[in-house]
Amino acid sequence: MERDGSARPVRTAGQAGGWHAEKHRTARIGWLRAAVLGANDGIVSTASLVVGVAAADAGRSGVLLAGIAGLVAGAMSMAAGEYVSVSSQADTERADLARERRELAESPEFERRELEKIYEDRGLEPGLARQVAGQLMAKDALAAHARDELGISEVHTARPVQAALASAATFAVGAGLPLVSAAIASEARIVVTVSVASLVALALLGGLAARVGGATVWRGAVRVTVWGALAMALTAAVGSLFGATV
Ligand SMILES: [Zn+2]
Repeated sequence: MERDGSARPVRTAGQAGGWHAEKHRTARIGWLRAAVLGANDGIVSTASLVVGVAAADAGRSGVLLAGIAGLVAGAMSMAAGEYVSVSSQADTERADLARERRELAESPEFERRELEKIYEDRGLEPGLARQVAGQLMAKDALAAHARDELGISEVHTARPVQAALASAATFAVGAGLPLVSAAIASEARIVVTVSVASLVALALLGGLAARVGGATVWRGAVRVTVWGALAMALTAAVGSLFGATV
């Protein structure tokens, strides 16, 4: 069954257009997914913080201060996490490729048999596996080994700083929503206003992410909304508990 906007490529003889289109779509989904996840994080953590502090009867200025501190802390933590993760991933891939390049230079015959074995394990006949390994290695031996032995499908030009900035920015955009809601709500209704606005935004983002990824929209929306509601309920409980005793 073909969904509208399915990522399945349409292959017509002699045309690579379908594959090309799919590749671009996948890249776009990855980018959008990361942005939506960052915004989700920003909404859930900041809304929970704001709701928790507001439930403790802290007053608007206390609520906003906590929310802004949460935004900055969260954005920095996202940036640091993303920087470390992208850098170390790039380091690992670089080291793997360097080792593979050395092995190819030192023992090309061993490496060719290694690749052959991989194709045999995947179901090719020995003769065909030898042919495939030989032809792929003649074209680009390192690329063939990177893809089929190491599982590195394309050499990423990893940009840890850009990745860090992007996730900090998407987090901050998400965090802005509960903050603005807390700033404009009447002081007595901060908890309700922030909760409702954040849950609606989470549902929309969850649905959007599911739609772009070709998954069921309502399921994607419900999933993030339930977790967001849970987080806010928990901090609200903690806030009212401590607010009553402090
Ligand atoms: Zn190899």
